[in-house]
Amino acid sequence: MSNAIHQCQCPHCQREDEHPYQLLHRQINLLVSRLDEQQRRWYVALETVKIGHGGIALMSTITGMDEKTIWRGRKELEAELEGRPTDRVRLGGGGRAAVEKKHRKSSMT
Ligand SMILES: [Zn+2]
Repeated sequence: MSNAIHQCQCPHCQREDEHPYQLLHRQINLLVSRLDEQQRRWYVALETVKIGHGGIALMSTITGMDEKTIWRGRKELEAELEGRPTDRVRLGGGGRAAVEKKHRKSSMT
């Protein structure tokens, strides 16, 4: 099933007539089919964040991915961000490039 593109099961894609979502959902599933397992989880999880309420159920319907798997992706995304300071672009202007990383209690380094 590695190269198979999932067929979206949402109501829009079951319609006979064209609906704008049909193309979008086909593109989502095309993209998902090219990603590895982790990238797949993270991409789908990210889409659910964008959609907001009902996003997980919707993306599960579109991609066929298990809702539990999507939740796992959401948690992984959140966990990956923890302890990673935002790398702000330093504006030029001389002076020392002071390292302002604050120590986090969870930091292992
Ligand atoms: Zn659809």
